[in-house]
Amino acid sequence: MKKVFINTYGCAHNQADSEFMAGQLKQEGFEIIDSKKSADLVLINTCSVKDPSEKKFFSELKRINKPVVVAGCVPQADKNNPVLKNYSLIGVKQIHNIVEVVHQTLAGNKVHLLKQSKDVHLNLPRIRRNPLVEIIPISSGCLGYCTFCKTKFARGSLLSFKEEVIIKQIRTALNEGVKEIWLTSEDTGPYGLDIGTTLPKLLKNILKIQKDFRVRLGMINPEYVKRYDDALIDIYKDERMFKFLHVPVQSGNDRILKLMKREYTIEEFKKTVIKLRKGVPELTVATDIICGFSSETDYEFLDTLELVREFKFPVLHISKFYPRPGTKAAKMEKLNTKIVKKRSRVLTALNEELVTNKEWLGWKGEIMIDEKGKNKTFVGRNNSYRPIVVKGKDLFGKRIKVRIVDVFRDYLKGEII
Ligand code: SF4
Repeated sequence: MKKVFINTYGCAHNQADSEFMAGQLKQEGFEIIDSKKSADLVLINTCSVKDPSEKKFFSELKRINKPVVVAGCVPQADKNNPVLKNYSLIGVKQIHNIVEVVHQTLAGNKVHLLKQSKDVHLNLPRIRRNPLVEIIPISSGCLGYCTFCKTKFARGSLLSFKEEVIIKQIRTALNEGVKEIWLTSEDTGPYGLDIGTTLPKLLKNILKIQKDFRVRLGMINPEYVKRYDDALIDIYKDERMFKFLHVPVQSGNDRILKLMKREYTIEEFKKTVIKLRKGVPELTVATDIICGFSSETDYEFLDTLELVREFKFPVLHISKFYPRPGTKAAKMEKLNTKIVKKRSRVLTALNEELVTNKEWLGWKGEIMIDEKGKNKTFVGRNNSYRPIVVKGKDLFGKRIKVRIVDVFRDYLKGEII
């Protein structure tokens, strides 16, 4: 039995693709193992969002001296990369052919399977990284043309998966003991606009499933939260919806948003978040910010700091701007790296000052344990999708009542009551 080691970079969509590739390989008699050293073949599922993750991948690749298959957004977005030519490559729309590519590679051949395709494969065999969580890509690609984005080169334009296929997959997963459904895509907002439905319709139909589970809605761009604000507020009223909204703003300044080719203004973003927070008081709003985008002035960066100070995002993903090869932003004026790094440090420090989580001290309520933590602890999520660490035995998959006894920047500490 040949042994395969899978290393996954990047987002939930990539994680789902790796689970599908692992499931198919296992079904075909391969053993999926955790050790790269003992593997006969290494499968690396790559991410092209940022320079650091891509650089980390290429330095990992250099150190491997056994058969390798490279999957994911890097080969898909950069088909003619001179280094990658020497390896077997499988594209983001070809994961249903992983078994053949692995067989060919183990036989000493190089296969390049990077064709885009409209075929949808949600019911492939999979090995879930977390048996309680089913990651469902509801579509691939998006309707955006953000000037900094390399993902668009890989995942392409919006391709929504049929509602009935998604709901069938959810029912199957729930029958297999799954408790959480993570809906993901490059942007969940435009879901269905290419097949005559919408995201709110899909969510309402998912919530018609009469079972006890939780839904986490993946990243959605601000213009779609604005478009569906009333419907989303209504949908979030269902207790099975985690009160979690990941809506990337990227900058607090309108001139920079225009340069990024983002489809909203800061005023619209603010109004939308205020409305959602009013309609869903428990809502955790997560956002992303790029520091040091092309030609961003000190004053324009101050707008970003102002936005963060005003909205105090409990979850804030801060990135330094890297001009990604081939993107429009890569041709724009580049700020000195020192300025970019400094702005990222300033924003990180501000966020640490603002987000203390002290408001959670003493909170009591039910959480779902969905992860094993470090040092014999477990991690659970409350309705606001806050991570709560508790000590205990055999808690995995259980719903328990806790009280928050301590708070940290990225998690809360609870004790069972
Ligand atoms: S919405 Fe923009 S940032 Fe997101 S995947 Fe599409 S082009 Fe990239």
